[in-house]
Amino acid sequence: MIGTVTKPMEEIYHYLQGEKKVIVVGCDGCARISHTGGEPEVNSMADKLEEKGFNVIARILPERTCYIHKTKKAFAPYDNEIKEADSFLVLGCGGAVQVVRQVTEEKGIYKPIHPGLNSIGHMDTIIEDTLFLEQCQECGECILEETGGICPVTKCAKGLLNGPCGGAENGKCEVDRNRDCAWILIYERLKRLGQLDRLKSYKPPKNYSKMSKPRMLQLNL
Ligand code: SF4
Ligand code: SF4
Repeated sequence: MIGTVTKPMEEIYHYLQGEKKVIVVGCDGCARISHTGGEPEVNSMADKLEEKGFNVIARILPERTCYIHKTKKAFAPYDNEIKEADSFLVLGCGGAVQVVRQVTEEKGIYKPIHPGLNSIGHMDTIIEDTLFLEQCQECGECILEETGGICPVTKCAKGLLNGPCGGAENGKCEVDRNRDCAWILIYERLKRLGQLDRLKSYKPPKNYSKMSKPRMLQLNL
């Protein structure tokens, strides 16, 4: 799930300066789970804009805005409003904003598409319904086999592949004393597994070409 937080309203009002007719687009996927772009948040945002004097001419909630075909389907009944709007405010991740741009461009519509949220990372772990954690940065070259199932790329503040750095104190990271040192966690885990030998093998620098952006996944089914 892509984690998102709502941008400050002042920033959003600034984006919308000089515009009158606005379409608010949410996302019933990740943004709904983050409570930033589901139906209640779309309605609340639209109400705030109307109180501020904007004319919200449509509220659209694609099932998942990052799916181009789902966004096209959600936009289909709103052709007139899409032509009439001055701009769009998207309560979805950065991908969703760009999908709305693509879908409107395909209709020959070139209007500002404003981001209403900040995307803060791929929250791959759900601890509770209201607490999410990033544990993997999708580096394209997974080394969890070597590190006892704990990712140093994500959990170590310096992303060290051959840690620890020497700055840990009482098991806490020198960069943030509230966080456990990833490499001490790795050590403890490997010790329990009887695999401390793994710490002796040098892990070469990662092949960052595997992280070169933008990445694409083509399935050959
Ligand atoms: S090494 Fe870490 S960042 Fe890379 S794929 Fe594995 S878990 Fe993800
Ligand atoms: S103290 Fe541990 S987690 Fe923090 S930067 Fe050093 S090795 Fe990484």
